[in-house]
Amino acid sequence: TTNAEVRVRFAPSPTGRLHIGGARTAIFNWAFARATGGTFILRIEDTDPERSTRENVDVILNAMTWLGLNWDEGPQVGGPRGPYFQMQRMDTYRAALEDLKRRGAAYPCFCTKEQLDAKRAQAEAAEGGYAGYDRTCRACSAEEAQRRIEAGEPHVWRLRVPGDHGPVTFDDAVYGSMSFPIDVMDDMILVRTDGSPTYNFAVVCDDVNMGITHVLRGDDHLSNTPRQILIYEALGAPVPTFAHLSMILGPDGKKLSKRHGATSVEEYRDRGYLSDAVVNFLALLGWSLDGETTIIDRARLCEAFSLERITKKDAVFDETKLDWM
Ligand code: GLU
Repeated sequence: TTNAEVRVRFAPSPTGRLHIGGARTAIFNWAFARATGGTFILRIEDTDPERSTRENVDVILNAMTWLGLNWDEGPQVGGPRGPYFQMQRMDTYRAALEDLKRRGAAYPCFCTKEQLDAKRAQAEAAEGGYAGYDRTCRACSAEEAQRRIEAGEPHVWRLRVPGDHGPVTFDDAVYGSMSFPIDVMDDMILVRTDGSPTYNFAVVCDDVNMGITHVLRGDDHLSNTPRQILIYEALGAPVPTFAHLSMILGPDGKKLSKRHGATSVEEYRDRGYLSDAVVNFLALLGWSLDGETTIIDRARLCEAFSLERITKKDAVFDETKLDWM
């Protein structure tokens, strides 16, 4: 497939090193962009000030460079190639909220944490349990809401999920057809009391503004996807194709962790592995050319990568196999 319209992104949070799983996600996005003649964007998701550090950004950028995963495009037209940083895009999230307000798709919520906690405790004690935010503030008229905002009352902004919305469905390029019941979807918070966007809101705003056509990411995000789709719909924006990548497990079948050895790209580099071998190895964790080929270089990957050959099976990472590469 050649499709110059393909736009993908790798969106790491700089809260640690570039892990094996993240590196594989980056390789798949990069290879898909190159194979289709599309655009590969690097976006640093640094909105969590407590956990994001400049040092981690540098570590991730170095790892990307070492792996040979060059990215295209940056925030300035004609300027240096990215990455984009979410912290520099706050005005775009504010604009998106204004857009949602105009569309009547967002409303202010003045419920305090204490009120919400009390309701949750009450609902949990009663039969049925807590069913999410009870939408108290939907009943607030526009005039009253305006008055309370002007009076300086703290508030968040929530998504007004249409009352008649059916289950959220999408066709995942890896998982196939997915359906999530609407009643588990809250009127989620988009913007917090301090004006900062929530994670799901920032991701969707960016993916819309950057014209992302395919979202390839770890399946730990699968439960975020229906929530994000509701935000796309509210913004009147086209929903991209999603491809969720299965987990990477250790040889013992458990989620890959420190117990299994080195888990970051940096560690492999420092141990003297060749970046070619690491790319080769990770590219074939959950993707295959033909089910047989075990040696593949970047050039071949950039020709042959396709979403169709990503497998849903969990991939097993056995670092001893890297040793003979
Ligand atoms: N920043 C998220 C992460 O590091 C990725 C978000 C996404 O790909 O949609 O897990």
